[in-house]
Amino acid sequence: MLLTCVIFLAILISVLLRFNVWRRNIRGVPILMYHMVSDDIAGTKLPKLRVSPKRFRAQMAYLKDRGYHSITIKEWLDYRHGKGVCPSKPIIITFDDGYRNFYTSAWPILESHDFKAVVFLVTKYIGGVNLWDLEKGEPEEPLLNAEEIKDLALSGVEFGSHSHTHQDLTQLPLSAVESDVRASRSVLGGALGNEIIAFSYPYGKENEKIRWAVREAGFQAACVIHHGDNDEAVDPFQLKRIIIKRNDNLLDFKIKLKKGKSRI
Ligand SMILES: [Zn+2]
Repeated sequence: MLLTCVIFLAILISVLLRFNVWRRNIRGVPILMYHMVSDDIAGTKLPKLRVSPKRFRAQMAYLKDRGYHSITIKEWLDYRHGKGVCPSKPIIITFDDGYRNFYTSAWPILESHDFKAVVFLVTKYIGGVNLWDLEKGEPEEPLLNAEEIKDLALSGVEFGSHSHTHQDLTQLPLSAVESDVRASRSVLGGALGNEIIAFSYPYGKENEKIRWAVREAGFQAACVIHHGDNDEAVDPFQLKRIIIKRNDNLLDFKIKLKKGKSRI
């Protein structure tokens, strides 16, 4: 009898742990964070940042089935300021770094589900490769070029800045941060001919000074890389994101959507 109780309790606890029952639900619009949709993990020390196309498709199909409507950060800000009516179950799908692979792998899947996306570009390297990663031994990856960016923008992708050079901004003097974020906004505005609103801090590194510099450069919102609430009280320069990783199965994805994290 005692043994049965112990086994039952052990099963119960592991189920509660697996489903992250102790974690409270996040409030406000969920913002997903991806980097690359790819099965090519050769040579990278960061395979977790490359979600397989098969899993990405299943994740998008799940969102569609559950009635989610993807919006851009510009739309989120508009709704927040009372312009227009936010659709039910809004969600924001973001991609950092602006890999060319977004154009070939992620966007066709997003588009087939009628979803939008926000892509954060490293503006100095548009049309080039991920130079900031090479010194860390990461493989060379092509980045979106100006034509692809224009084409995607016309199809409903919102582009934001991921800084000009992808440095940890908290390690730079404030004057260098200011010129970096200003340069990135003007390059992007020049390339797209419209107002650039959103920013994503490289490596998620930010502090009060960095947020100030980003705001001063004319951005209206910025994303970090930890999860949390994006409700009415959120600082638009600290929008929280849910990181979706390669080893997340659909159960992890469902849990993350509600709780922000799926493992301890
Ligand atoms: Zn990045």
